[in-house]
Amino acid sequence: MRIVLLGAPGSGKGTQAQRLIERFGLPQISTGDLLRSAVANGTGYGLQAKAAMDAGQLVSDEVVLGIIRDRLAEPDTLRGYVLDGFPRNLVQARALAAMLKQIGKPLDAVILIEVPYDIIVKRIAGRRSCPKCGAVYNVHDVAPGEALVCRNGADHPPLVQRPDDNEATVGKRLEVYEKSTRPLVEHYAAQGLLRRIDGDAPTDTVTQRLVGALLQAPGAAKKRAGAKGNAGAKAKPKAKARAKANAKSKAKVKTKASPKAKPKAKAKSKSKSTSRPARKTRSSARPAKRKRSRR
Ligand code: AMP
Repeated sequence: MRIVLLGAPGSGKGTQAQRLIERFGLPQISTGDLLRSAVANGTGYGLQAKAAMDAGQLVSDEVVLGIIRDRLAEPDTLRGYVLDGFPRNLVQARALAAMLKQIGKPLDAVILIEVPYDIIVKRIAGRRSCPKCGAVYNVHDVAPGEALVCRNGADHPPLVQRPDDNEATVGKRLEVYEKSTRPLVEHYAAQGLLRRIDGDAPTDTVTQRLVGALLQAPGAAKKRAGAKGNAGAKAKPKAKARAKANAKSKAKVKTKASPKAKPKAKAKSKSKSTSRPARKTRSSARPAKRKRSRR
């Protein structure tokens, strides 16, 4: 599936994108992560992006579209992906639609994660990340007396706060969200792609709502079978029902179905083996316990 997670900074898009990776095996594509990595590596895109990011403004469409075009050309996106933080305005949404139209693979769903702004400000102010692996935590999730350290290794350095997670910049980012990104809600609703979920709940609850919304999304019914290999234990009853239905229909078209099934299975395992090595960003970080409440 090709999914967009929409929501204000701090609404939990990154955390929920992680959950979708685990459940459906789709890569998370976060333009924020890609831009931070470009800044850290001092690339041309990074140099152009830094000032806007530090000020809580949007990076130019030219830079963001360049980065996203490169990323979508990578082989691990063939089975689908979760876009997190992109598109962020109408220009980007239209450019994305044009890119996807060219390859005949349109979006399947856009999920809006709604969280009240006072909760968002608190979440962002408490957000901390590991400079080594990118895992994201929140000071508000730590039990009294417990130290907030990265759980991915004793050798991981102390957690740090993102430079744009200070109060002044958060206000600016929320303003920018209202002005530039909020219009996407109408844009995608008009296309019948939008589903809304309440993101002001424990992470697991939001994940349940998200998966429920995805399964009801227009493009989902057709694609559910594609997710069965990665759907995990939680999806078992549905996977079983699908397997039963598949077996029945295979029995009906015995002669034609089996020769086709083989190359598909091969293609699947090939795409897995060619997937990119884990990036050292939050996109690939998996703390032992999930206490992160990244956006
Ligand atoms: P995020 O991690 O998604 O909160 O993004 C951090 C910062 O990166 C934002 O405040 C923007 O400055 C920049 N950024 C991320 N994604 C985009 C985008 N799609 N368009 C423009 N700027 C972006």
